[in-house]
Order: sequence, then structure tokens, then C-alpha cells
Amino acid sequence: MADTTTLVPYDEALAKYEPVLGIETHIELGTKTKMFCGCATEFGAEPNTQVCPVCLGLPGSLPVTNRSAIEGIIKIGLALNCTIVEWCRFARKNYFYPDMPKDFQISQYDEPLCVDGYLEVEVEGETYRIEIERVHMEEDTGKSLHVGGATGRIHGADFSLVDYNRAGIPLVEIVTKPIVATGDKAPLVARAYATELRELVRAVGVSDVRMEQGSMRCDVNVSLMPKGASEWGTRTETKNVNSLRSVERAVRFEIERQAGVLDAGGKVIQETRHFQEATGTTTSGRSKEEAQDYRYFPEPDLVPMAPSREWVEQLRASLPELPAARRRRVQGEWGVADKELQDIVNAGALDLIEETVREGAEPAAARKWWMNELSRRATEQGVDLASLPVTPADVARVGALVAEGSINDKLARQVFDGVLAGEGTPDEVVEKRGLKVVSDEGQLGSVIDEVIAANPDIADKVRGGKVAAAGALVGAVMKATRGQADAGRARELIIEKLTS
Ligand SMILES: [Zn+2]
Repeated sequence: MADTTTLVPYDEALAKYEPVLGIETHIELGTKTKMFCGCATEFGAEPNTQVCPVCLGLPGSLPVTNRSAIEGIIKIGLALNCTIVEWCRFARKNYFYPDMPKDFQISQYDEPLCVDGYLEVEVEGETYRIEIERVHMEEDTGKSLHVGGATGRIHGADFSLVDYNRAGIPLVEIVTKPIVATGDKAPLVARAYATELRELVRAVGVSDVRMEQGSMRCDVNVSLMPKGASEWGTRTETKNVNSLRSVERAVRFEIERQAGVLDAGGKVIQETRHFQEATGTTTSGRSKEEAQDYRYFPEPDLVPMAPSREWVEQLRASLPELPAARRRRVQGEWGVADKELQDIVNAGALDLIEETVREGAEPAAARKWWMNELSRRATEQGVDLASLPVTPADVARVGALVAEGSINDKLARQVFDGVLAGEGTPDEVVEKRGLKVVSDEGQLGSVIDEVIAANPDIADKVRGGKVAAAGALVGAVMKATRGQADAGRARELIIEKLTS
């Protein structure tokens, strides 16, 4: 059914309503084997080649819990400041769907493994503490592929195929408590939370958290209440939002749409919605199930989990430096302002710059090359900074060549051209392209003589004491040498020739 709601412009909606958010995030753990069987978990394998009787739910098969998955979720729970419970159980969540071969999913219901945590995020200089309700363990579903339709959705398809390779991969679900009092920052807070969570889990090292491959997926709950009201409105849940930017857009759109429904005197329907990447809108999906529809009961085929306190403390001690602490540390070491650090994080450049500094570069030079020159090229090519074919070691070497004076910034850009074009290391590119700063007096002297002869008026000004005019001559020298002259040396020589 077509959605005929008239959207209310964002600022107008926020003037009248207060948004309440909730975010549920699913993260696939990067374990070698599945949650309850020994099947491989490699992404992109031939369909239905990583399956066995357990993950296909064949009669008589029995699940066995994967210890390294439990380690992974406990680490995530600890990194999120959660309490790890002393005893809990898996629960069977019953539903029929073709991508769930057993017709139930092993999950956790009223006894999650990790509870009551928080994650702090920063938006425009303000800190928001996002409370975490629970972090629980479950298994992923398979994947349906709808063939023959225009959109890849089931509607209009000729037939559907199902791939069970993903069924049974360990999946961690992280559920926030309601996020209130964010006002017009709600979409940014949602995005900042998803960003920080991704960084955190990546740092913990238990998942590759790639949203585009589905190893991290966000469901975004949004409701509106009139300003000053105390009762929350009805929420919608937008499913499987697959990029950080989409998290922000989905929240923004739902605010504008729900305000439209409410302004027209209507009621927001509690339902699942789908985010449409192409238009930035959400469309109505199935009406939301209630917990009772799933007929949860304790999973009879698995023993309860009772992680010992010693084990939990060992895992806590094994946690690496977490993103917030790391940001504070590098900020001190590099002496950068909050805004610049935020830009670095947003550009995905923190790891790259830190690695470049470890390779011997000055922090300022490392930041300059990654954040200006290389960011610009990544944007032009529409790729992540990290996927440019240039390494931190290359950038450190270019920085060293500039620092020792054998190339200048202009030549450095040409060195990056060569490295990015696959011509080799910075030294090889310098060699092949002949990119050396010319500071030799003889070579530079003859170019300067030509430039002086070609610009007699400017030369006279310098002779007459207007030393600033020499800049134009330096520019002409740089042009004549295609950027290879040592500009400082050229300036010295020009002034020497014209004033002595
Ligand atoms: Zn299996």
C-alpha cells in the first residue's frame, strides 16, 4: 500500500515533538566455526557448502556451544561496561521463515548473558551516555535470494533460492535502553552510537563489523511524543539499516513521517519498516510481532551458561585499549583539537595516521598527507581511505623525503600519483620519474638567468629594493622546472644576483 503521509519539515517536527530512539544492533562474530556446530563461516562461499545436520536442523542432531563465541560476546559486554551474569540460558524463539531451516532460532530471551552497560558518544562537543539494556547471544539466519523481480525483493520475483551458509553463525544482539532527550540531535546521536559501537567491536577484535557485508546490522526504533508529554508514542522499527549514514537518514525520515501522521490526526502504527537506500525513505513492512508470538521457552538441547568469575576477569584483562581511551591518548601525543580528531576518526584515518607515525613520520606530516591529499583522492575515486593502494610506510617515506629536502610538497603529490598508479615505492617513483628537488647552484642559476631576462620589469623592482617582488620570479622558476626547484634556494639566488 502506498504511503500517502505528508512529511513535516524536520525543524518544524522537532519544534512540536520529542523523539525517543532505541537501537538494536546485530553483530556476526568472526569465529572460525558456527555457534552450535563445526561448519566454516567464510563469507562469500558457494551457497549451501557450509552446512551440516545441526545448522540445517535435521532430526536427531544436537547443538554444542562454541566457546570462542561466548568469549567474544563476554568481551563485547565488558567493553560496553555491562555486568556479565553468573548464570543464564539459551531460549528457543519459534517462527516459520524459509531462511531459518529449523523453524526456530536459538537465542536468549529473559536471561541474557550481559546486562546494564553503557557507551558514551560525542556529538557536536556534547557527550551522550547511551544505556545498554542487554547483550545476548543467538545464531544468524540463512539468506533468501529472490530471482526475477526488478527490485530483488520477494514482490514480483519468479522464484526464491535460499542459502544456509549463514544459518548458525554466532550473532550478538546489543539492545539500548530508550534514548531520550536528544532533541534535534537524535539522528546524529544514533549515527554516533552506531559508529562508536563499530569502532569498539573492531578494537575488541571479535568481528570485522562490515555493514556492507552484513556482519553489522542496525534496527532503528523511533517514536515521537508531543513536547511536554510524559507518555511515549508508538514506535516503529526500521530493519537492517546497512550503513552509518543510513542510520542517520532513517531516524530523520521517521521523525518527519511520524510527525506527518500525528499532525494529520492519525496514529502511528507499531510495525516493522524497511529503509530504502535509493530514496532515503522507509516503507511499511509486516506488523510487528509481540514476544508472545514467538512462544519462547528455555532451549532444552543446551546446558545453561555459567561463566566463572575468574574467566570473566581473564577476559577483562585481555581487552585491548578501547577507542575512547585511545583517542584521548593520541590527542595528547599529537596535540590536536577535538574537532580535528573527530574529522580524523570520521575519515577513517586514525589507524592509518597512527601507523604512519609508528613508521617514523612526524604526526603533523602524517595528518597532513592522509587528511588532505589522500582523503581528496579517496573521495574522487569513491573509496575508503584505507583501500587506497598506498601504505602508512609509503606515506612515512614521502614525509621523510620532504623533511630531508630531496622533494617538496608539490613533488610529493607526484610521488603519490606514481605510488597510487602502481609504479612502485616512493623511492622507485622518485627514481623513475626523476622527481628530485633542484638546488644545485649551476643548474638553478641558468634557469634563474633566463627568468630574469624574460621579466626585466620585475627584476628592476627587486634591484630597486622591493625584495617582495622576487616572489613572482621564484614562481616563474618553479614553473620552468615543473615544480622541481628548491624554492627557498631559488629565492636566495635571485636576490643575490639582483642586489649584489
Ligand atoms: Zn553446521
